[in-house]
Amino acid sequence: MSWSNWSGSVTASGQIARPQSEDELAALVRSAHKLRVTGAGHSFMPLCESGELIINLEDMAGTMRIAADRRTANIPAGWSIRRLTAALYNEGLALANQGDVNPQSLAGAMATGTHGTGTDLGSLSTFARGFRLVGADGEARWCDAATHADLFQAQRLSLGLFGIATEIEVSVVPAFHLAERIEKRRWAEVRESYEELTRQHRHIEFWFFPHSDHVILKTLDLCDPCDPPPSTTDMEEAVFRRILNISARLPFLTPALQRLMMKSGISGRRRGPAHSIFPSDRTLRFEEMEYEMPRSAGLETLEEVVGWIRRRSLPVTFPFEYRVVAADDIWMSPMNAGQVAAISMHQYAKMPWAALFASAEAIFRGAGGRPHWAKRHTLNRADVTALYPMASRYTAVRRAADPEGKFLNPHLETLFA
Ligand SMILES: Cc1cc2nc3c(=O)[nH]c(=O)nc-3n(C[C@H](O)[C@H](O)[C@H](O)COP(=O)(O)OP(=O)(O)OC[C@H]3O[C@@H](n4cnc5c(N)ncnc54)[C@H](O)[C@@H]3O)c2cc1C
Repeated sequence: MSWSNWSGSVTASGQIARPQSEDELAALVRSAHKLRVTGAGHSFMPLCESGELIINLEDMAGTMRIAADRRTANIPAGWSIRRLTAALYNEGLALANQGDVNPQSLAGAMATGTHGTGTDLGSLSTFARGFRLVGADGEARWCDAATHADLFQAQRLSLGLFGIATEIEVSVVPAFHLAERIEKRRWAEVRESYEELTRQHRHIEFWFFPHSDHVILKTLDLCDPCDPPPSTTDMEEAVFRRILNISARLPFLTPALQRLMMKSGISGRRRGPAHSIFPSDRTLRFEEMEYEMPRSAGLETLEEVVGWIRRRSLPVTFPFEYRVVAADDIWMSPMNAGQVAAISMHQYAKMPWAALFASAEAIFRGAGGRPHWAKRHTLNRADVTALYPMASRYTAVRRAADPEGKFLNPHLETLFA
């Protein structure tokens, strides 16, 4: 059976193994020449690609353990965010923030710096307190801020380069509830009041269809305890699906169709436990690039990219998604130089995306952006060195942890060999 990522843009011929215990996993790693570990395969870059062996931890036995002070929990690394957050909720606990879907594995989400939105809320990688790792030698070891400290610092955003995580200690918070509000707003109005809006709401994001003058604004705020909502998604995708399929056949209609679609009323309200409100169903496959911009350059850069798309009437069918993420101190995190504005550009998976992304990437790079590691980018090793002061230390830790390069694949070799 061949492996493919969520969007279908990356396929791999490697044999797929599903170990059920850490001993079985260790034996697989010892005997492998080259291998990659995969979670839910939600990355757009070929991070999990391998022509030899692909390991998936979904079948590994393991249980969650909550610390006596209820501030951290040790979680099997292959658990999905969905499974983990449901289990935490049953114990009266939660993750402080989540992204907009939840099928990803905990280890996979942390390995790429997956994030949600919130000025004071860091990426999921910032929640990691320690990792149990099966290294390239097949030995399991624990690392945290005090034990194997350099390995821990690198592993906080690891891209799967330092070993296979089997258990992760994660910081958790008391369970909370969220009220979601979705509405259509004029872009000019949101642009004007954006800073104020970010101060008013715990979470704020918006989607901007490049050919429309309106955006879809989504806010999440704390609310009183209540039951989960009847719907598992923030927005219905049926009309959008029809429009995308017309655009795929007749791309020149994209601007007009987008303006027409945004004429309709768009609004939504849901409330429930946080882990049932953060994620939504995303049933339409897309390809994605995301750049994390210095926060002060975010809105201006978004307008520049949108202006370029409008001037050329380009068939960019999906909206841009705009979020903010708190600063962190993780070696390879694009958030490590300060708070960022995360700008995601998507294209329907059935339509060409590479040339569009390449032109937009030049604008994002020109304005000081650094890419999300899981999403489309064209960085090379010289770029990584120029953009990340800790890149050489990260690569040195990788070489010490995996001298034969078992965990390198062709993509990662170009960045971190
Ligand atoms: C529909 C959709 C929505 C998304 N929403 C968001 C979002 O809101 N915010 C955001 O920031 N990103 C988002 N992403 C990106 C996504 O969160 C990342 O690609 C994430 O890495 C996916 O997790 P995964 O389990 O699928 O990992 P994979 O893509 O399977 O793997 C990612 C990396 O993790 C490594 N890895 C996996 N398991 C282990 C392990 N046990 N030990 C060591 N390394 C491991 C892999 O080797 C690889 O390098 C989205 C992607 C999609 C397709």
